[in-house]
Amino acid sequence: MQPLAGDALLALWERGATLHPIDRALHVLAYAAPGRDPEALARLPLGVRDALLLAARRATLGDRIEAQDACPACGERIEVALACSALAAGEAPPSPEWPLEAAGYRLRLRPLDSHDAAASAQAGDVAAARALLLARCVVAAEHDGESVPPEALPEAVAAAAAASVAEHDGAAELMLSLACPRCGHAWSSVLDAAGFVWTELAARAQRLMQDVHALARAYGWREADILALSDARRAAYLALATA
Ligand SMILES: [Zn+2]
Repeated sequence: MQPLAGDALLALWERGATLHPIDRALHVLAYAAPGRDPEALARLPLGVRDALLLAARRATLGDRIEAQDACPACGERIEVALACSALAAGEAPPSPEWPLEAAGYRLRLRPLDSHDAAASAQAGDVAAARALLLARCVVAAEHDGESVPPEALPEAVAAAAAASVAEHDGAAELMLSLACPRCGHAWSSVLDAAGFVWTELAARAQRLMQDVHALARAYGWREADILALSDARRAAYLALATA
């Protein structure tokens, strides 16, 4: 995975800012993994996509993540230190398809990808989105030798299918186990890897623009020349310019 250089990071931020979050995640991957077919990236299981996004984050901003959350019991703000490598080192990529038996129903399931996520985002409400994702991850279903459409599956079977998809594409839901140092409450929180990585890259792009602004004002240098400086050299000139 290539680190994103200064000019690429600004171009990424500029074009990504107006995109839907799902397109934005694919946009980041297209920059971080140049040469990979965009359609193949869109077809990646969501957990595999998120592992790649975390690898891009690690290559550009380092392995250590400092995340924040609030205790649901007492409201205390807590900071959690995580490592991209530990978050992304989930299980192997899911199989293209796998079987599931639940309550006498025999299903074949597949992982969800960015096309599925984009379709569900336009579904209107949560129930419609859930039905759409179920219809997409259930490749085939039968009961007593008869084929059953996904919308006719009993609630318990639909829930088992959803749980199986989450389990097979493990990294798609990054569960963090947290505990409050003030009141001792323990809870779990789901990290939205795609949203998180974008927020961090966008913050880095904005800090870079502040640096460009300060150096251009101090020395009259061009944006491209300032962005081409190494981080260490840019920081050294900034310290001199603002001393
Ligand atoms: Zn608490």
